[in-house]
Amino acid sequence: MYAPPGVKTNHNEFPIPERMRAWVLGAPGELAMTTKPTPVPRRAEVLVRVDAVAICATDLDVIYHGPPALIQGGLPFNKNFTPGHEYMGTVVALGPGVDEYRIGQRVAVEIHAGCGQCKRCREGMYTSCHNYGLNYGEVDKGHRANGFTTDGGFCDYQVNNINTLVAISDTMSDEEGTLVVTAGTAMYALTELGGLVAGESVCVTGPGPIGLLTVAVAKALGAQPVILTGTRDNRLEIGKKLGADHVVNIRRTPDVVAEVRRLNGGKGVDYVVECSAASGAVNDAVHMVNRGGRVCLAAFAHEEVPVDVAHIVRNNIYLYGIRGEGRSATHRAEAFMRQKRFDATLIHTHTFSLDDLPTAIRYAKDRVEDAIKVVVKTRLNTASKVAAE
Ligand SMILES: [Zn+2]
Ligand SMILES: [Zn+2]
Repeated sequence: MYAPPGVKTNHNEFPIPERMRAWVLGAPGELAMTTKPTPVPRRAEVLVRVDAVAICATDLDVIYHGPPALIQGGLPFNKNFTPGHEYMGTVVALGPGVDEYRIGQRVAVEIHAGCGQCKRCREGMYTSCHNYGLNYGEVDKGHRANGFTTDGGFCDYQVNNINTLVAISDTMSDEEGTLVVTAGTAMYALTELGGLVAGESVCVTGPGPIGLLTVAVAKALGAQPVILTGTRDNRLEIGKKLGADHVVNIRRTPDVVAEVRRLNGGKGVDYVVECSAASGAVNDAVHMVNRGGRVCLAAFAHEEVPVDVAHIVRNNIYLYGIRGEGRSATHRAEAFMRQKRFDATLIHTHTFSLDDLPTAIRYAKDRVEDAIKVVVKTRLNTASKVAAE
């Protein structure tokens, strides 16, 4: 039985096996189901029973190409590494001294536990933990980035630093719980832009999961108008349901910059959050904002992008990059979701069992049946078996 010294458990309610199921990454694109010892929480950590995990475009980057994952200082292949970073679950064991959470509590988890010691961590920018490159990825420094530098959530159990936990409402489904971190990234984008004030105008470019939830968070913060641009009508329609006042299909719009300015009463908008990674998107964004406007870059571009620097300088435009979900933005995002200020589940399209992870990944990668957020659940098999008997 799982009983590490100093670790609190409640085996009657939450029995924990000594070994657990875990997918591991072999060669690029190859995942194999195996078993691993159930991990042990250390000081300031808990053991989370993973209940649901969403698949993110970044997981696909990691599984097929490697970066941004960094395992033992290099590519993540053939290192017994378990990916998956957008998970939620139930606290089932407490590391030594932990009393901030209780066994049985449902939580969403942030990806990054910074080292807590470097300059950026001390400023609340723990997703940019670096200390000159020394602490990022150093488990002994307390740093973890689930599914990037340490094992992630495509398994039955994972350890998490208590600073990465967000207690979620019992009215929130497991699937919705996996979206707290995505909404947290959207919140972080708007926080880093300076903190949106009600009545300011926002354009979001790219209706992927982060773009769609940025629309929702911006609207919940009081933005007016919220404009969403993209190429897929079905996703733009979801954007409307999440709060977009206007949507622009750029395939049918010869001059998207002019159209955004027209929709904003002939003026540039206050903020653009760039979530498309399209090669012309940064230049479009800096022309969409007004003088003194702010542009947040939230998408990983896969190539170098040309930028009209003279226009940025002449117009005092601010350009920000963000990484992940810093400054406890997930807690603010969860507060909106708890109050039902928007329905994040509109972007959840498919659910599979953990055993079906390769199918789930295919749905996410090839956008089968217009998939947006695909979720895998660890106990779906058992549940459906019970229902079928
Ligand atoms: Zn992600
Ligand atoms: Zn740090």
